[in-house]
Formats: sequence, structure tokens, C-alpha cells
Amino acid sequence: MDYEVIIGLEVHVQLDTKSKIFSPAAASFGGSPNTHVATVCAALPGALPVLNEDVLEKAITAGLALECKIANFTKFDRKNYFYPDLPKGYQISQYDKPYATGGGVKIALKDGSEKFVNLTRIHMEEDAGKLIHSHDSSINKSYVDLNRAGTPLIEIVSEPEMRSSEEAYVYLNNLKSILRYVRVSDCNMEEGSLRCDANVSIRPRGDKEFRTRIEIKNLNSFKAVRQAIDYEVEWQKDVYSRGESFKQMTKLWDASLLKTVPMRSKEMSHDYRYFPEPDLPAFEIPQEKIEAIRSSLPELPSKKKLRFMNELQLPEYDAEVLTSEREISEYYESALQISKDPKKTSNWVKDEVLGIVNKESISIDKFSVGPERIGKLIALINQGEISGKIAKSIFEEMLTSTNSPEEIVEAKGLKVVRDDKEIERIVDQVLESNQESVNSYKAGKDRALGALVGAVMKETKGKADPKTVNDLLLQKLGPAPQKNS
Ligand code: ADP
Ligand code: MG
Repeated sequence: MDYEVIIGLEVHVQLDTKSKIFSPAAASFGGSPNTHVATVCAALPGALPVLNEDVLEKAITAGLALECKIANFTKFDRKNYFYPDLPKGYQISQYDKPYATGGGVKIALKDGSEKFVNLTRIHMEEDAGKLIHSHDSSINKSYVDLNRAGTPLIEIVSEPEMRSSEEAYVYLNNLKSILRYVRVSDCNMEEGSLRCDANVSIRPRGDKEFRTRIEIKNLNSFKAVRQAIDYEVEWQKDVYSRGESFKQMTKLWDASLLKTVPMRSKEMSHDYRYFPEPDLPAFEIPQEKIEAIRSSLPELPSKKKLRFMNELQLPEYDAEVLTSEREISEYYESALQISKDPKKTSNWVKDEVLGIVNKESISIDKFSVGPERIGKLIALINQGEISGKIAKSIFEEMLTSTNSPEEIVEAKGLKVVRDDKEIERIVDQVLESNQESVNSYKAGKDRALGALVGAVMKETKGKADPKTVNDLLLQKLGPAPQKNS
């Protein structure tokens, strides 16, 4: 039986704000347990929530970057459930009036085509605290840490429009890239600032109706998302192949067993007894606020990538790498302003600079060689002041010094020898002392020419322009021999 895979993702993103969504307590990651706790986070009687303006602005920013419609009227609701890390006994979330609807994420498919994955909605909500379990020899203890309670989240819900784990993976990557561009979150999956639940079902290809879905939680890496979906698809195929069916449920991904394991039967929204949050009145988002945020959005990665390809004539791969992070694209553009050479600058940034940045796992804006020095280095190559090979050694030197490329060239006497007379003298000398190579060349072994160029370059310590050397040698050796080797 040929099945079609149906995937919808629910993505929680922690907004990068100083304080929590409804209280002045710090929203930063970590800290000693229960040190970032205000009265609202601990649900002390009479403590009232107040919406953090910065949360609303970052949430709107995310919504606009994802091309959503921002609601003019929105409200918060109580989602009731009991858990020890939720002292209020309810989570403040949004139910029937989310602040953003529609929008979506464009993804590129393997066959070269593109697809727009629509969003259903985005809503704001607060995070819960954390339980820490310790298995003492005599007694099991559980501790409650409320540092995370009330941390601002947005939940981005997609339509069930992805058709493979690969599409889900690309969707998630693009989503992360966009949210990082607009600086609403670092989207760090390891620290939990981006969390993904995958809803998966399959149906015989050609069927119109959806079948029962399984929701998979606990996906804390991009790899896990892909593996868990693939595993789940096989599991469902297996159930159907036996003529059986299954109930809607929530499963957990076990990254060590590499399988999904049942957690609980899926709760329905009526189980939560949603009702409007009485402590936070429904409110209007002024249109001027929405427009002000819209006009301050930076150029987004997909648009920037196209611009790099069309205006700067960069290959798609280069444009993709250079626009993957806003900081990388800005580094590249700053270097380009000085070098004026799009492709060469791309090569230097993606190969040399990112080579080190990725190896050391640092952010490019923390890299010791700033874009000005890389731009200048490339300009020196293009002006014929230094060779590409020398440039590499200057780059090495810059890693540990703050000197400009010009200063290093000056201090080390690395300038290209432009004096043709001087090069000619060295060429003559090399021809003189490399009779063997000269004879091989004349006997038709044109490989010998390379050896001669190499000898001249060595003699000039790499400072001669290889093309000049090549031309001079050919001139002196006479026309190229008949190829017979
Ligand atoms: P819940 O709160 O029950 O998880 P949501 O509406 O928040 O419900 O999210 C449901 C998610 O499941 C959405 O991302 C949606 O696209 C996806 N989904 C719905 N039906 C299916 C299905 N049959 N197969 C796969 N995904 C589905
Ligand atoms: Mg949900």
C-alpha cells in the first residue's frame, strides 16, 4: 500500500525578553533554583498579572516576519490543568482569539520546487516551571524550580501540510532562521528556547480524509524531529498493515532507544475548561503599533538570498550559506563594501572565516578578524599588491594580531614583486640552474613548465605574480612543444 505522510508542527519559541510575560521577574535561562520568582510566578494570593509590552512587541514582530495577520482584538484565556510546576493550577494562554493568524513559511524541496507551508495561528502563553527528580537511596524526592514559570512563549501552529520528515526539517530550519533574523529568540533547541511537537498521520495515497494523528513530544534536536517522524510513519504503516487501528495519543521520542513511546491518551481542548482570563482584560492592538513594527523589520533571509543571487551574481549555494544567519550576511556585506568583489568575498567568508567560526563554535560577530580587514585583504589581492597565497598567510597572521593587512604586508615585506626586470633576472637564473626541466620541456613534457614556475615562485618567496612568471618563461622557452607525454 502506498501511503501519504501528513505532518503538522506545533513550535514553542521562547521570546528573548528581560522579564517574564506577566511579572517583573528575570526571564533569563538558568540561575539558582527559585531565584527568578515574583509573586505572580509563585501564584501568591492576590498577585495580578500585567502583560509585558516587550513580549507583545516581540510576538508581533515574529508574526509579521512570518507574514501573519495581526489581530486588532485579542485576549488571554486560562487553560486549566494540575501539575506541581504550575502553582496557579492553570496556564495563561490564548484560545479563541490568538494575536496572529495565517501566514506561513516557504520551503525549498529537493526537486527544486518551492512550497508554502501555511500557519494556522500563533498565540502567546506563559511557560511552566520545572520539576527536578532525585532518586535518593532511601526516598525519591522531587523539587520544584519556578525560574522558568512565566517565561514568555509563542506557539506557532502549522496546518497539516508537510508531506515528509525532510519537509518538516526544512520548515523548522527556515522558521528558526527567520525568528533569529528578527531577533525575537535565539531559538536554541538545547536550552529549550525552541521546542517542537510533531503531529503525524498517514493515509492511502489519493484519500481525501485525514486519519488519526499521533502527537510526538520531547523532540529536542532537529535530528530527533526527523528520526521520530520516520519512526512513527513506519509504526503506523505496520499497524494498518495488520488491519488494526489506533487511538489519538501523545507519544514521547526516546532518543536513546530511537523510538516513540506512548505517554498518554490525547487530551481534548474541552478537558482544559478554557475560559477568558479575568485578570487580563481583552485588548486592542493599535494599527499604528503594528505598522511601526512592520516598517522596522530587517530584510528577511529568503529575500536577501534572492538579492545576493540576482544583484551580486552569487551561486545559490553561496547565497544560501551567507544568508543563513543575519550576522553572517551583515559580515559579508560589510566586507564587500571594501573589497568590491562579491564572489571573492563570498569565498573568503564562507571558506576561511566560517571555517574557523564553525570549528570554534563562536558567533561571527565575535570573530577576531572583522569584516573590514577581510575586505581590505581581498582588495589588496585585486589591486595586484599581494598574491592569493600570500593573502592566506596574512589572514593567519591577522588571527592573532590587530594589525591591518597593509601593516602586515609592510612589516613583512610581502608585496608582490612588480619589477619585471627583477622577475626576469630570477627567471633567467632559474632557467640556468634547471637545465633538466628545460630539456624535458623541450622534449615535449609540458609538465616541466609547472616545475619551472614553481622554482621562480620559490625564489621570489611567492611574491611574484604567477601569470607574469608563466608568460616570461614561455617567452624565453619558445612556443609550447607538441604534446606527447
Ligand atoms: P492540539 O492542541 O490538540 O495539539 P492544535 O490545533 O494546537 O491541537 O495542533 C494540532 C496540530 O496537529 C496542528 O499543527 C495540525 O496541523 C496538526 N494536525 C491536525 N490533524 C492532523 C493529522 N490528521 N495529521 C497530522 N497532523 C495533523
Ligand atoms: Mg496545541
